[in-house]
Amino acid sequence: MQRPLLALIILLLLSITLPPLLRHQPTSDVEVGSESVTLSGRTMGTTYNVTFIRENDAKIKPDRVHQAIETRLQEINQHMSTYIPNSEISRINKAPANTPIKISPDTAHVIAAAQQVSAATQGAFDITVGNLVNLWGFGPEIKLYAIPDETKIEAILAESGYQRLELDSALLQVRKHTDSLYLDLSGIAKGYAVDEIAELLTQHGFSNHLVEIGGEIRTGGEKRAGSPWNIGIERPRTKEHSVQRIIHSSTSLSMATSGDYRNYFEHSGKRYSHTIDPKTGHPINHNLAAISVLHTSCMLADAYATAFMVMGPQRSMDFATAHDISVYMLVKEEDGFAALSSPAFEKNFSSGERK
Ligand code: ADP
Ligand code: MG
Repeated sequence: MQRPLLALIILLLLSITLPPLLRHQPTSDVEVGSESVTLSGRTMGTTYNVTFIRENDAKIKPDRVHQAIETRLQEINQHMSTYIPNSEISRINKAPANTPIKISPDTAHVIAAAQQVSAATQGAFDITVGNLVNLWGFGPEIKLYAIPDETKIEAILAESGYQRLELDSALLQVRKHTDSLYLDLSGIAKGYAVDEIAELLTQHGFSNHLVEIGGEIRTGGEKRAGSPWNIGIERPRTKEHSVQRIIHSSTSLSMATSGDYRNYFEHSGKRYSHTIDPKTGHPINHNLAAISVLHTSCMLADAYATAFMVMGPQRSMDFATAHDISVYMLVKEEDGFAALSSPAFEKNFSSGERK
């Protein structure tokens, strides 16, 4: 995109009001309006925001939906959070190699999707990256934010990798090939939770909704008859929220964004991202500042966004083009950012309207 045009678009977009979900950091809250209900709270170490349109024929009252959502989120966390010592994932992480470990359908579903994305991206996305995430200080343990020893990185690399995890979806069990294999679902679980909450709302009769957890978003139906949901692609700034691009959606659509601008530490003037390249064992280091993936599944959008962060701008664009995936990326340049979008994104979202 031409830079003057980009600047103009940014100016125009900045004059548009930010969607409320990007503006505030709420605590657990319910707001019942005459047309819609907004719920918010905390989950998975971040915030969630849910808005749904009130329906006369809905099976349960809007205020009971909040409880149902909280319960479901707690269940997913109890399955997938490495921050909970007795969660299912923590049980897997503590288990020895070559023993079958029983898992829930939730976890089996997410691990199956993760393994699929790993295979498709030649290991750019890899949930067995957990020990490296911990080593670099981005895991549940005390954050040291120091540069780890290369020998430690090598030792972990020698015992990890998604091929060292075996899933039996029919028997609902996993088997690790090495004792130390440590799974981290942080790059995919938020997206899965978004899908599940959207599904829960639909089942209760609220098919017009917008669900967001930690920036991963899914819309269903419309904001009101003839009026689409608007979701904003953020500009990569660490301290402020502003919108780079607005997507209008009148159907079920998910968007996940990965960026190098929120979760990182700095050491000797260098920025270390929480996204780890599973091949090198080091945080990613290239000029892709942020990438948004639009997909029908928020779980897959989430995983692909992290994979693309690892793959960098060129490989990601090639992959998105070959696989017809809608992506919008912001690439760092000397004096700002260049916005690039894949052919699928151009086809579906360039006019601002979803086809
Ligand atoms: P982002 O919005 O930047 O993608 P996410 O929370 O979705 O953030 O995913 C990043 C998290 O995923 C990291 O904090 C880490 O726990 C985990 N992770 C890091 N690198 C990888 C990787 N290569 N594959 C899978 N998960 C990763
Ligand atoms: Mg992700």
